[in-house]
Amino acid sequence: MKVAVVGAGIGGLALAQGLLRAGIDVTVYERDTALDSRGQGYRIHLHALAALEACLPPDLYELCVATAGQPSTQLTVMSSGLRILRSTEMAPNGLATSVNRQTLREILAARLENVIEFGRTCVGFTQDPDTVRVQFADGTEASADVLVAADGVGSPIRRWYLPQLAVEETGALCIYGRTPLTDQTRPLVPAPIWKGFTAIVGGTAGMATGVLDFREAPGDAARRIAPDVRLTDVPPYLMWALTAQADAFPGVPDTSVGLHAVAMHAIRRWHRDIRRLVELAAVEETALIPIRSVVPIDPWPSTRVTLLGDAVHAMSPARGSGANTALQDAALLASRLADAVRGDQDVVAAIAAYEREMVVYGFDAMRASREAGPAGGGPLRSSLFRRLAGIR
Ligand SMILES: Cc1cc2nc3c(=O)[nH]c(=O)nc-3n(C[C@H](O)[C@H](O)[C@H](O)COP(=O)(O)OP(=O)(O)OC[C@H]3O[C@@H](n4cnc5c(N)ncnc54)[C@H](O)[C@@H]3O)c2cc1C
Repeated sequence: MKVAVVGAGIGGLALAQGLLRAGIDVTVYERDTALDSRGQGYRIHLHALAALEACLPPDLYELCVATAGQPSTQLTVMSSGLRILRSTEMAPNGLATSVNRQTLREILAARLENVIEFGRTCVGFTQDPDTVRVQFADGTEASADVLVAADGVGSPIRRWYLPQLAVEETGALCIYGRTPLTDQTRPLVPAPIWKGFTAIVGGTAGMATGVLDFREAPGDAARRIAPDVRLTDVPPYLMWALTAQADAFPGVPDTSVGLHAVAMHAIRRWHRDIRRLVELAAVEETALIPIRSVVPIDPWPSTRVTLLGDAVHAMSPARGSGANTALQDAALLASRLADAVRGDQDVVAAIAAYEREMVVYGFDAMRASREAGPAGGGPLRSSLFRRLAGIR
């Protein structure tokens, strides 16, 4: 079996690793020219560790765990004046942690030099009962037995293949950035943030925060566990992501400096330590995402083309589920395609088995993050961050 994956994000790379583990031939086509050609500067809450472990060779999985943040022991909601509104203790079970997105992608891309083709923008595909042909912007074509769209929220493949699966703008915007943890900034970090994910609510905006204090520096961990793998060293940092309806961020600029200024303005009445932490951010890494989410549809007839991750169930980051669900998809799809290779079922039946499960948990995760997020319609204070922190 030969699988063509379009998109080298978290989902596409995890799938490639999982397929290689199952002995399946795979090529990943990525439109970017390199893994780090766009900003990746944020922390991801990770709980789908079983899926990650299923996809990766043991040493690369060990590298993910070694370069994760400290396990969370508490979820907290604070006011903009830094008063604790709610907090929930959690036993550290090692199953919920955080990772640096770029480090995770570097590990997922490890040993895939001959598998990933960069600078390859997919512009179309055709399929017949036996093959899929994928077309690229450079005029070339590739054929495969299966095509997987792992091409993110803007997925062109989804638009061609499932035009009925719409992606909605929720009207909310998220400005996010990171502040390196230094002797100057560490003392400013409120105590609950050291213990785990902390949401800060103020007026019409809310800020999700979390520290990424690596268990082991990525470069050192790679030298110890998988010396053939190169990981970029990233200093520990505090991630902050400020979310509000678009009208709370008037005249959103398109430069990182401008976005940082808008975030500073939005929190101008917040506690001085938070203002100072945002002020001391790596300003050039400040970025904006409009919060989008798909509108679930009924199951569709399966073919040799399928989708995973944000391409099929894009969701608000409010519950920290998008990447976790993409990893779950990757592990499940790799396992179903391995069933097909073993001859347990044919390829399209294997894809149908994957899609039957994926649409249930994928759209459920999307609905949960939609209810948790500003698009859920409830006021931010009462909805977004209480649910975000799992507090009823
Ligand atoms: C601030 C922020 C915080 C977040 N926090 C969390 C969190 O804590 N936990 C969590 O689980 N999720 C989180 N998420 C969501 C998570 O980042 C996404 O759900 C996840 O990255 C989706 O992975 P993916 O592989 O499906 O898509 P992507 O990572 O978007 O990858 C898609 C890839 O496809 C490529 N591509 C697109 N079109 C083409 C084409 N035509 N041809 C070739 N290649 C193409 C793109 O260049 C890209 O590399 C967060 C998101 C944000 C913005």
